[in-house]
Amino acid sequence: MQALGTSARDGASIDLEDLRYGYGDGEFELRVPALRVEACERVAVIGPSGSGKTTLLHLIAGIVVPLAGRVCCDDVEISALDDARRRHFRIKRIGLVFQEFELLDYLSVRDNILLPYRIHPALQLGASVIARADSLADRVGLRSAKDRLVTRLSHGERQRVAVCRALVAEPCLLLCDEPTGNLDPANKLRVLDILMDVVAECGATLMAVTHDHDLLPRFSRVIDMKSLLASGEEPA
Ligand code: ADP
Ligand code: MG
Repeated sequence: MQALGTSARDGASIDLEDLRYGYGDGEFELRVPALRVEACERVAVIGPSGSGKTTLLHLIAGIVVPLAGRVCCDDVEISALDDARRRHFRIKRIGLVFQEFELLDYLSVRDNILLPYRIHPALQLGASVIARADSLADRVGLRSAKDRLVTRLSHGERQRVAVCRALVAEPCLLLCDEPTGNLDPANKLRVLDILMDVVAECGATLMAVTHDHDLLPRFSRVIDMKSLLASGEEPA
């Protein structure tokens, strides 16, 4: 497999050019003339429900590919890679917190956090990774829940497991889809603090969709979907 990008410890930049995407039913079309996110930026994405925030993150992660235009992460044009290479790139470099969490009900908290290591041969599970998973769980307040099935957790606790899973492989780009959407005010701040701390520790770039306008001052930039779709890149 060709080497994809630089070391996992460098924050990744993102470039979108003349991007167009639509689902098969033709009901929705996303057009992004241009967007650049610099390495190590901490960007919040805001916009009404249905405006394409989740679709945008999935395009950047290479989960879906654009109908036209380019998605680049550092010097790698993700949108030009085949499925296997996009997947490999995502596993090695990107951490994702899905809006619907995507946890496996039959696994414990710890095993859900370690899931990327259990299913991808490109990641190697060892004692230090397990220690890191446990430490992340401790930091988000799940210290006593590590061996519990995730079905025995509250919605907010499940969200925190999803955040830990996205962080465990020390990604250089962290894409979070409403990562604090189900949390009470205290846990919201705690999870955001941890996200920001781990992003700083890894030297990663953060892009997070959020409806929590009180959290926006914690980000270095806010991208509003309305301006992004209408006229290209938001002013810095
Ligand atoms: P947001 O995250 O801003 O709420 P989404 O990116 O989830 O918006 O969705 C944008 C639009 O695409 C919505 O109109 C939604 O109904 C539609 N959509 C999302 N996923 C699919 C899908 N898998 N198939 C068809 N339409 C979809
Ligand atoms: Mg969404």
